[in-house]
Amino acid sequence: MEPKINHIGIKQERADGFRYKRLRHSGIFRGDDTRSKLIDCQGSFEQWTNAPARAWINARVKEYRDGRHVHIVCDCCESRDAGGVMNDKCHGQEIVELIIQLATSE
Ligand SMILES: [Zn+2]
Repeated sequence: MEPKINHIGIKQERADGFRYKRLRHSGIFRGDDTRSKLIDCQGSFEQWTNAPARAWINARVKEYRDGRHVHIVCDCCESRDAGGVMNDKCHGQEIVELIIQLATSE
């Protein structure tokens, strides 16, 4: 199966066959707020020292390599569709790109 991963907002519907992974449970952000990353999750991924957050990213990398279909869901945007209410400081797309980059590099 061809992997698919994308970022959606909290009010967007899940597409058929997609797993639903919420950024607020990733350990990357301060509290339940998906706008501010913890200090130990900043810089390049190699620099992250937060073990739970690294493990969460690595689990998504494995899903991608296994060909899963995954939504990365933030709490700070209602929808990432055109016209949706978005937070311009959202890290969702950046996290998706990080996962793809790690999954497709050796
Ligand atoms: Zn967001």
